[in-house]
Amino acid sequence: MINKDPSTNIALPQLPKEIEGLGEIALNLWWSWNPKGKNLFRLLNPYLWKESGHNPIAMLKKMPKDELESVCAQERFMREYRYVYALFKRYMNDKSVYSQKESLPIAYFCAEYGLHHSVPIYSGGLGFLAGDILKESSDMGLPVVGIGFMYPQGYVRQIIGSDGWQNGTNEPIDRDVAPIERVLDKEGEHMVLEVPFIDPVVYVSVWKINVGRIELYLLDTDIEKNDPWDRQISFRLYTPDLNQRLRQQIVLGIGGYRVLEELGIEYSILHLNEGHPAFALFERVCYFMEKESLGLEEAVEVVGKTSIFTTHTPLAAATDIYDFDAIGKNFTDYWKRLGMDKERFMSFGINPDSPSEGFNMTILGLKMCHNKNAVSKKHAQVANKIWKTLLSSTNKPIDYVTNGVHLPTWLGDELFEALDKIFGEEWLQMQDMLEIWERIAELEDSYIWNTHYVNKVRMVNFIRERVRRKWSKEGIDPLVAMAEGVMLDPDVLTIGFARRMTEYKRPDLILHDIDRLKKIVNNYAQPIQIIFAGKAHPSDNPGKKRLQKIFKAAQDPGFCGRIAFVEDYGEDVAKYLVRGVDVWLNTPKIPMEACGTSGMKAAINASLHLSALDGWWPEAYNGKNGWLIGGEISDDAQDATSIYELIEKEIVPLYYNFGEGNFSKGWVDMMRESIKTMAPHFSAKRMMKDYLDKFYIPISDLKK
Ligand SMILES: *Cc1c(COP(=O)(O)O)cnc(C)c1O
Repeated sequence: MINKDPSTNIALPQLPKEIEGLGEIALNLWWSWNPKGKNLFRLLNPYLWKESGHNPIAMLKKMPKDELESVCAQERFMREYRYVYALFKRYMNDKSVYSQKESLPIAYFCAEYGLHHSVPIYSGGLGFLAGDILKESSDMGLPVVGIGFMYPQGYVRQIIGSDGWQNGTNEPIDRDVAPIERVLDKEGEHMVLEVPFIDPVVYVSVWKINVGRIELYLLDTDIEKNDPWDRQISFRLYTPDLNQRLRQQIVLGIGGYRVLEELGIEYSILHLNEGHPAFALFERVCYFMEKESLGLEEAVEVVGKTSIFTTHTPLAAATDIYDFDAIGKNFTDYWKRLGMDKERFMSFGINPDSPSEGFNMTILGLKMCHNKNAVSKKHAQVANKIWKTLLSSTNKPIDYVTNGVHLPTWLGDELFEALDKIFGEEWLQMQDMLEIWERIAELEDSYIWNTHYVNKVRMVNFIRERVRRKWSKEGIDPLVAMAEGVMLDPDVLTIGFARRMTEYKRPDLILHDIDRLKKIVNNYAQPIQIIFAGKAHPSDNPGKKRLQKIFKAAQDPGFCGRIAFVEDYGEDVAKYLVRGVDVWLNTPKIPMEACGTSGMKAAINASLHLSALDGWWPEAYNGKNGWLIGGEISDDAQDATSIYELIEKEIVPLYYNFGEGNFSKGWVDMMRESIKTMAPHFSAKRMMKDYLDKFYIPISDLKK
């Protein structure tokens, strides 16, 4: 049984009886992907809603008691409250789709989750994919339980100096206002478990996030019972210290398994999102040997058949590889427990192409799991080539499930509500059907244009407001304020580039020929502006150099304030950008981008995609729903030229071709085509249906 104890560490203020349900709503991220949920809190107190950074818990804690009482007398608020609370209850109690009762859950393991900015336990794409998977599983009623890590110090908060160099600081989780609850043990104490086979023993405490109907359990080593060094295991995401990272992954895989056991959650399928949690496979082998009395080989076979491994990178170098010595130090007792010798144990992590390099976590996943997938069609072709030698000795090639995005999370509220009207309120259940999207023709041209314009104004206001605050409160350097977007103009054609600042994504490609770009940007009648955002990994100096180049361009008076770099990219910034820019630029070096998802978030909001032929784009591009940069092979100079020509000859003339009604009809046609062709296919629902059809249903007894 899943632990349903509602006890919580989050002390919400005593709410009047009439609106008690507000607390329940605040403690479940469901509100964050429902326009009506968000609206309810906005209605409660617009000022505090904004002030709290759209965090209902923080907001309720700040609400004066008398104000909480007085809203109970406001008819409009109470009507909205009763409506939203009923929606929430109906959602939580709906058992109509995949009933949890009929089948054992799927245990989903990932090192990071991107859910909301109040829970900074993500670094980027992998986390948002995992977050969207949990949200969609909740919407579909799939029996999934999530396992992850609490990172008390978060990932990294980006601070850029006037020289354009990225400095980082921690972004600690504020446990008092994050929607994270303590999980309690039978005695009513905060649940603490031992992770075996680490010497000395490491203890983890267990927390929980409610993602609609899905429970996500987080492990935390930052407790007093641990030695200082052990407390730091979970301090930050992807710690560069390899020894510590290995211990992190032992805690995630093996500790995560222990959590499920302690909670009494039996599960039918183990889904590993990337190699970080792959040690869970060994623990599962132990389970079948110890609890079901299987022999080693049988247990390995059962675990292989019932586990899924999803790989997310075509970069062989981006996988975690550990010294055999380090593995030996931690696992000697462990392989004895499994009845293996050292050689056999190590063999699970050895890459046949370079056997001496160490124990490779991706190899462990690929070797053990019979079910493996890449995250786009193109990525599958690349991955099968990279791991060819290894795969020739295992049973199945790497299949693919192209990523998708959770539509209710990423769609702008106006568009969402317009679709409610056109498609009917139950449309989300049919969101992956191409037919319903034909009806987008019913949205008027002016509505599409104007809605997007409103989102663009919001984005520009948001960016300027952030700079304004930093300027007045933190006293930042004027050169930094200048570069961060104070001169942005919502009437100008806007290109956005927001993703991790790293070499293969070529964030500075559009700056290849500065003089040519200046001419394009400063075209007096038809200017463009470019907004950049993205963090470099703290130890990625080449990535930081590219960021610096962009930041310097943003400070260059020759660009007239039309290039901006928005600091500290995260979920909140992403939401404004994907809804507000006109064109989303994507320039990966082929074939390094496994999939990419931010472009999907933009495309469903009618921010047109301008991309190299990599990741998901080959599956989406139809000649009318965006533009293609360069050819099948990347070349910086040629690709930059391709971008300039597209902007000069197609994008700028089309955008500024204002006709009747003061907007471009041709542009709106492309916007409509973008929504219509991308939303169904790149929805998280389509993705989860693929996971069901290809893996979950064939492997388990999951029934509709
Ligand atoms: C979607 C998203 C990502 C992933 O973007 P890519 O296209 O994979 O680069 C990263 N960060 C944030 C904040 C996102 O919302």
